Amino acid sequence: MSSPDQIQICKVCGARVAAEKQVCPKCGSPLPEHKIAWYKNLTPTEIFLLILGSIMLMVALVAV
Ligand SMILES: [Zn+2]
Repeated sequence: MSSPDQIQICKVCGARVAAEKQVCPKCGSPLPEHKIAWYKNLTPTEIFLLILGSIMLMVALVAV
């Protein structure tokens, strides 16, 4: 799977900069903080546990 969103464009000089960079290497201007959705950092196991956890919570709420 390729991730085309690993690149951001500097708004000042238009350079293509790696998404994790916080300063443009070409013109030195600060780049806006790259917000990665929190769930993208989760492993499949963590996502499964998260879903399982919310199901358990719903069951608990219904049971009580
Ligand atoms: Zn730049």
